[in-house]
Amino acid sequence: MAKRKLSKQQQRRIADQQKNKIKSNKLKNNVQLDESSIQTARVISHHGRQLFAETEKLEKIKCKIRQNLGDIACGDYVLVQQAHTATGESQNVVVAVKERTNLLVKTGFAGAVKPVAANIGQLVIVTSLKPKPNPYLVDRYLTAAENLPAKALIIINKVDLVDVETKRMCEDLTALYQGISYDVISASVKQNIGLEEISQALSNTTSILVGLSGVGKSSIVKAILPKEEIKIGETSATTGEGKHTTTVSALYHLKCNGIIIDSPGVRDFTPINKSLDEITHGFVDVRQFNGACKFTNCSHTNEPGCAMKQAVSDGKLNEQRFNNYLRLIQEFKEKE
Ligand code: GDP
Ligand code: ZN
Repeated sequence: MAKRKLSKQQQRRIADQQKNKIKSNKLKNNVQLDESSIQTARVISHHGRQLFAETEKLEKIKCKIRQNLGDIACGDYVLVQQAHTATGESQNVVVAVKERTNLLVKTGFAGAVKPVAANIGQLVIVTSLKPKPNPYLVDRYLTAAENLPAKALIIINKVDLVDVETKRMCEDLTALYQGISYDVISASVKQNIGLEEISQALSNTTSILVGLSGVGKSSIVKAILPKEEIKIGETSATTGEGKHTTTVSALYHLKCNGIIIDSPGVRDFTPINKSLDEITHGFVDVRQFNGACKFTNCSHTNEPGCAMKQAVSDGKLNEQRFNNYLRLIQEFKEKE
């Protein structure tokens, strides 16, 4: 996971470029843009030079994309204008991408950075009792959330499968993450446990659900969608658009202005940190001891006067979290 940091100057330049693009309203092939038709829409899915977006009136529209607009991701807000061709046909054209609050990216082949989703308010990290929770993966997702930045919510699903061993695991995980001020919800789609709480936690923001395959992400989404939204999924199954499968992006509306973005890129997203600073910033509990060690270049492994190791022995910092932090740092250095 990485954050694209633009300087103020770069942001201004991009904004100017976008304005200029809108100004020249003549497109190729004698296509004329109708400036009075301009509206904002949110991108649902994006394929090549075409995308599907949702207007403020919640209409789904198909749009062509004007050249040189740069990366466009699911969740982006775009400006759309109607265009009329010489033969009288009309089409929607995306003429600009609005400034984003954040952009989740993943690294593809040969280190190429690919946008995954934009304007994300909350990362919902879904774990389950089966497959078992992987705290290291949870911590990596948390670094992604902290660096976006976005809120993070942790769900432990399938609590109906609880036994003596997993009960303890579930309690420990909840105590650990609540202890460092993350919200944790225990849930079971099967037994309708925690679903109302999840709905509430997803109000008034745009969320994405991340986690291992099989933990129940699709089941949770289906269970908390209002009835109308499920119908949208079903009816569009025949057209293949907006269908809830593993290949198509979707933007779902929950009650109380909650939105879930679900796309193939989100589903197979694994967080990647771009710098040591990002890793440190990604650990809310560790980062408060950053800079407090005796040596400024402390590796927090065997130096005397290490504030982090001291915090662990004083019980002020969880050992598992600290070890996961060191492991991420180590893996990052090995890759460099
Ligand atoms: P995803 O890959 O994360 O989207 O997971 P799915 O939603 O496809 O669920 C994977 C499997 O777990 C399916 O067989 C679901 O029926 C099952 N599942 C989902 N939620 C629960 C739950 O709360 N309890 C139990 N026992 N099984 C569940
Ligand atoms: Zn140290």
